[in-house]
Amino acid sequence: MTTASLPALHPMLQEFLGRRVHKLLIDGRAVEASSGRTFATLNPATGQTLGIVAEADAADVDRAVACARAALSGPWSKMSPAEREKILHKAADLIEARAEAFAQLESLDNGKVIREAKSGDLPLSVALFRYYGGWPTKLHGETTPVSVPYYPGAKFLHYTVREPVGVVGAIIPWNFPLLMAVERLAPALACGNTVILKPAEQTPLSALWLGELLLEAGVPPGVVNVLPGFGKTAGAAIAAHMGVDKVTFTGSTATGREVLKASAGNMKRVTMELGGKSPNIVFADADMEAAARGMFMGIFYNQGQTCSAGSRVFIERPAHEKLLSALAERAKTIRMGNPLDPKMHMGPLVSDQQRRRVLSYIDSGKAEGAQLLTGGAAAPGEGFFVQPTVFGGVKDGMKIAREEIFGPVVSVFAFDSVDEVLERANATDYGLVAAVWTKDVKKAHLAAAKLKAGTVWINCYQFVDAAAPWGGVKQSGYGREKGPWALENYTSLKSVWVDLNA
Ligand code: ADP
Repeated sequence: MTTASLPALHPMLQEFLGRRVHKLLIDGRAVEASSGRTFATLNPATGQTLGIVAEADAADVDRAVACARAALSGPWSKMSPAEREKILHKAADLIEARAEAFAQLESLDNGKVIREAKSGDLPLSVALFRYYGGWPTKLHGETTPVSVPYYPGAKFLHYTVREPVGVVGAIIPWNFPLLMAVERLAPALACGNTVILKPAEQTPLSALWLGELLLEAGVPPGVVNVLPGFGKTAGAAIAAHMGVDKVTFTGSTATGREVLKASAGNMKRVTMELGGKSPNIVFADADMEAAARGMFMGIFYNQGQTCSAGSRVFIERPAHEKLLSALAERAKTIRMGNPLDPKMHMGPLVSDQQRRRVLSYIDSGKAEGAQLLTGGAAAPGEGFFVQPTVFGGVKDGMKIAREEIFGPVVSVFAFDSVDEVLERANATDYGLVAAVWTKDVKKAHLAAAKLKAGTVWINCYQFVDAAAPWGGVKQSGYGREKGPWALENYTSLKSVWVDLNA
């Protein structure tokens, strides 16, 4: 662990963090929770309290849903698509202008290193608002040449209209707090919906700040409501609420299952972005330097706390030994320390609970006989740090090979043939992403066709864009975020018939 002098916090952030309590945002106003309860959000690099936050529960969800429903027929619904575009672009500009402050806040509340927050979370958040900022004027319906068999010769005009779904409940996790919020808000707002956003209890601050920024951008009160709180109370209340029309959920598969069950009461439309145990496959003919970088990025980005972590690395036998030790050597060079320090590559995990969870997986890897090449422990001192950990000699049946760890722990396997590796890669309940490293175009496309995953990366890893779809197959969920595909999630299609017969 390395310590260093840290850069000063942005003055706007200092002011934000100076608030006594970070209140809920309902109907455009900062309000206390109905219960009066609060909870602490911690800085995972120190374990110290970063802020006190109002704790929403079912009563607050009721209040917020009532406002969001009312806002569906308020000024928001009367705005022209062009006006909505202007607001979304303004939101992008405001985030961009405050990028430094937001990046510091993400780093403080989540533990991610500032260099990743600045190069990843922030530019992508801005890009999402710009991308969806272009859509309101393009959300048109179509005319359809209809025929009615029981009314030969009859003439009709038939057209479709894309309407907002209504009130959207967005339940998001802690690994990319701002980005996950924006990924839901930008398309939901582009389509004219209103939103109840519940950030994760570990990282509520940037969503609250974003809610205020959206008011400043011109989003009318009640359109975006932000309710920090816990999953079993606030989250469950959103999932079950009869006044919420759609739920977009990102989180663990187990919690996704709960949300799905709870949403059945009023047949909510649901999209689910869940866990992963993604294969990163390196053939012996690959560019080894690029593959090594990709394996490294794939698992250690965001401390491994990504649903797309390349947590199962398969290396073709002739390259296996060399690449495995290259990965372990590279992991030893990681600078881990206070994430606000721009020199750091890795910060702490988000919470003590997450650290304990990850350490228990490391223990199980050791106990099941995997070969620990580097890491394998918490870092001494304050904060929730876990060393970057590489296991070789992993067997497919081991717990670390099957379950999502959500931390900086990679399992490395050797393989001998294309068919074998594709079968083993697919032998998981998950299917979010997969990657293949090879110079052989045929092999790459064969693998892309056969891998059961929502995204396949060829000779790259962890690439995302506002315009490219994101989502999984199997127990990694369904529905696609980003790109034009997300617009399907946030609109419903109305079919209109006009009788043109005399
Ligand atoms: P993790 O285990 O990584 O914290 P979760 O899937 O439990 O991930 O959490 C993702 C989001 O889901 C968080 O905002 C959390 O508060 C929320 N959540 C947790 N449990 C429930 C639940 N039963 N109903 C609705 N939301 C929940």
